[in-house]
Amino acid sequence: MIAENLKKVESEIAETCIKCGRNRSEIRLIAVSKTQPMEVISEAISTGIKDFGENKAQELRDKSELITGDFNWHFIGHLQTNKIKYVIKAAEFIHAVDSVKLADEINRKSKELNKNQKVLLEIKTSDEATKFGLAGEKEIFETAQFCKNSSNLDLVGLMTMAPYTDDDKVIRNCFIELRRLKEKLNKNEFALSELSMGMTNDFKTAIEEGATMLRIGTAIFGDRIYK
Ligand SMILES: *Cc1c(COP(=O)(O)O)cnc(C)c1O
Repeated sequence: MIAENLKKVESEIAETCIKCGRNRSEIRLIAVSKTQPMEVISEAISTGIKDFGENKAQELRDKSELITGDFNWHFIGHLQTNKIKYVIKAAEFIHAVDSVKLADEINRKSKELNKNQKVLLEIKTSDEATKFGLAGEKEIFETAQFCKNSSNLDLVGLMTMAPYTDDDKVIRNCFIELRRLKEKLNKNEFALSELSMGMTNDFKTAIEEGATMLRIGTAIFGDRIYK
């Protein structure tokens, strides 16, 4: 089933890339495997998926200890400071840095573990989608500057979630805001390359607005079962 779902998602990504003149190779597809059991992740690996997203620190720790191979883990959830260590050990990218305090803790722990940690800043582009995320340019620039000054952080981009709605205009505005923010930061001597945006419901719009990382769960794995 995963192979079939993936084929459909890939063909939609390819179609959208053609439509808006982008190259598929600029976009990383992250299969969001939260709540999915190990055998499902194994199946996904066998279909050639190279990136997996988890949003709970312990779940990422457990899964990353059970299965290793030629793929990356992404931590896409809200991170509590007492669980940073597990996440740094496993995750190639941490997508949702939303405070100087969290950035500082990730930097410290990364130093202890002798790692250069790639991070993205989570930006709140709408009030409905999530309670987390940086809002306001001053706060965003300060947090970005803090990451830049931190020896063991590599700030690679920005991440956002659009609200769950059928109104494409609302969703598109969130993604446009994220792209403009990245452009603005890069005009001010930052060098961000990544825009992590687009989920099952809105990834085509995200591609059209410049996404470089799609975080897709349901369209690949089917509906999640929460215990
Ligand atoms: C669960 C989750 C996703 C994937 O959502 P789908 O709608 O299943 O594609 C993407 N990003 C984050 C931050 C998530 O928590």
